[in-house]
Amino acid sequence: MPRIAHEDIVGWLREDHPAALQQLFARADEARRAHVGDDIHLRGLIEISSFCVRQCHYCGLRAARSMPRYRMSRDEILAGAHKAVELGFGTVVLQAGEDYGIRAAWLAEIIRTIKKETPLAITLSLGERRRSELCQWREAGADRYLLRFETSDPALYAAIHPQRGASVRDRIAILRELRELGYEIGSGVMVGIPGQTYEMLARDIELFESLNLDMVGIGPFLPHPDTPLGAPGVRTAGPDQVPSSEWMVLKAVALTRLACPEANLPSTTALATINTLDGREHGLQSGANVFMPVLTPAPYRRMYEIYPGKACLDEDAMRCNRCLRDRIESLGRTVGTGPGGRFTRTASQSVPTLRSQPRFTPQAKSPSPLVVLR
Ligand code: SAM
Ligand code: SF4
Repeated sequence: MPRIAHEDIVGWLREDHPAALQQLFARADEARRAHVGDDIHLRGLIEISSFCVRQCHYCGLRAARSMPRYRMSRDEILAGAHKAVELGFGTVVLQAGEDYGIRAAWLAEIIRTIKKETPLAITLSLGERRRSELCQWREAGADRYLLRFETSDPALYAAIHPQRGASVRDRIAILRELRELGYEIGSGVMVGIPGQTYEMLARDIELFESLNLDMVGIGPFLPHPDTPLGAPGVRTAGPDQVPSSEWMVLKAVALTRLACPEANLPSTTALATINTLDGREHGLQSGANVFMPVLTPAPYRRMYEIYPGKACLDEDAMRCNRCLRDRIESLGRTVGTGPGGRFTRTASQSVPTLRSQPRFTPQAKSPSPLVVLR
């Protein structure tokens, strides 16, 4: 049985009353504390290539855009991994466009070297690569893979994510393959994609739960003017259109924490971009427990322009690290150490089961303890 009923998720997504929403955020924060604790895990993000063969209608890296592109060298990637260790991070995330110039064997050797020379966990986020490639990287030591399904609605997905060739292998099928290969799997969506309705976003959250994701990334859709979805007059879902506002993202993060209490949830850079002052903190207070500071070398950062105006674009890694640690401490939270993989409780660590308590509903008024745990 799902932890939150469909109509309750829709009800909360449509809820606008600040006092009611504070209650939702408080419950998500409580679930976060009970299931994954007060640690915030820092994952160093290295954007290793801006080449991409895809034409996603939302993304500034889409192949149709003519712009300078880069692919980092082996030594640059290894230097980034060592920087992550120096800054005290437990994980490095290697992300890129879907770039077949990243040869499977070449990356496998880099993964093996990082594993040999550092204690880092390695997360990959490289798009829809072939099963044999995913297998090779897993065997080389990669621990996790991030692949957002972007929307669970097949028609909207087809409209914003053009198919390449005749492949019938979609992102949800690939997530299942990744699980079979032994990866921890992460997915997610953008909130406020033109055409996304409240019903669709609710089903996205239900899918996070049914896929039993280890990580879920949720950020606002930020229009890029050089993409089809960033063009003026783009078609929306009218009165049912989900806005790409900070509140809407926080609601989705909070509901995801309640639906997937053990998952690692980042407070995303996109959220920090729509509220540069304290968007990050708001994410962490609404259920998130991960930050992903960017370690991409400065000359490449500007070229990895998924959307304009990305937060902290000019921050150097050292300053960014200090700033994030200060923000974490100001919330009374702690910086996680070690790889920070999915936290699954053993019987002796288990939090009280609240099976017998009433279901979590939008109507609940009292600040009752968590009521959505299995
Ligand atoms: N190429 C890989 C992939 O697509 O999975 C990884 C890189 S891709 C840039 C990472 C994520 O950026 C996408 O999954 C998408 O959710 C997000 N993204 C792309 N365009 C965006 C936009 N305009 N606003 C917010 N997020 C965006
Ligand atoms: Fe390429 Fe990923 Fe951007 Fe799609 S979202 S265009 S696959 S980088």
